[in-house]
Amino acid sequence: MNKIILCLLLLIPVSSFAQNPKEKGLASINRQSAEAYIGLLANDALQGREAGKQGNCIAAEYIKAVLQDMGIKPLNNSSYFQPFEAYSRERQKRTRFSVHPDSIVKYKGEQAFRKLELRNVLGYIEGKRKHEYVIVGAHYDHLGMDESLAGDNIYNGADDNASGVSAVLQIAKAFIASDEKPERTVIFAFWDGEELGLLGSEYFVANCPFVSSIKGYLNFDMIGRNNNESNPEHVVYFYTESHSDFGRWLKDDITKYNLKLKPDYRPWDKPIGGSDNASFAKRDIPLIWYHTDGHPDYHQPSDHTERINWDKLIDITKASFLNMWNMANLNTF
Ligand SMILES: [Zn+2]
Repeated sequence: MNKIILCLLLLIPVSSFAQNPKEKGLASINRQSAEAYIGLLANDALQGREAGKQGNCIAAEYIKAVLQDMGIKPLNNSSYFQPFEAYSRERQKRTRFSVHPDSIVKYKGEQAFRKLELRNVLGYIEGKRKHEYVIVGAHYDHLGMDESLAGDNIYNGADDNASGVSAVLQIAKAFIASDEKPERTVIFAFWDGEELGLLGSEYFVANCPFVSSIKGYLNFDMIGRNNNESNPEHVVYFYTESHSDFGRWLKDDITKYNLKLKPDYRPWDKPIGGSDNASFAKRDIPLIWYHTDGHPDYHQPSDHTERINWDKLIDITKASFLNMWNMANLNTF
């Protein structure tokens, strides 16, 4: 190295090279983690992660192991799991499963009824104001298998919703990597039974003792595919209309961090459709929901890992970590 350059370098204070906590977190989000998480969750060995089946159980154990390894604590002191039961009428009556106490009493009173034992996976990082909460979540269950299908008979669900699970795990990793305690407590949630009717998120919200202290929720459901191959940066960004700051946050961060996303901004007065966001919107909790729209492999056995648009998935994960950083830390929100 040239002596003059060396002298100049020595004059620059060390602090100019150091990243701030938010940027340290952001730098930890990468493609290898996304490939590892989705690769396992959408592997044939997990048989489509159907709620109540063995492949789903393995997925929950895997998510728990990853959280534990990162240093994320279980929300319920001794366990990362929140077990619950869902009931339905017998199969011929084509009734949806429910976790509502009134429906459970009604169905259990019938001659024949169906019952599933399910569980959410929940971890958290305690905030300085520990009784204020923000939550980031995605469902981890999918459609299982259909043995009567000819050929490929496993609904792998790489996009729906291993992609969303990978984002929640990477955001947890990023909060740990930031090495700074957030202002609010951040909960990392992995919902079971979404495909059967948003069961896990509904059970959580209906039985949450601190529901009135949940300041915001961010949801992922399918964030890894292209709806239109000519617009691979497309992402739908739903958010609670009365929180116009949610729209501004994303616009600012895309510019500041040079994220390759072209969001379709969709402010929504009561975002109760589509996915687990509904369970929170019904209780008037402000929310953000990322979704990359439909595609021909949606709810098909061909929803495979190798079809993921990794660049977009990673930039959505980064953008949403920055959203969560704001939700967890901004006083104005
Ligand atoms: Zn889904």
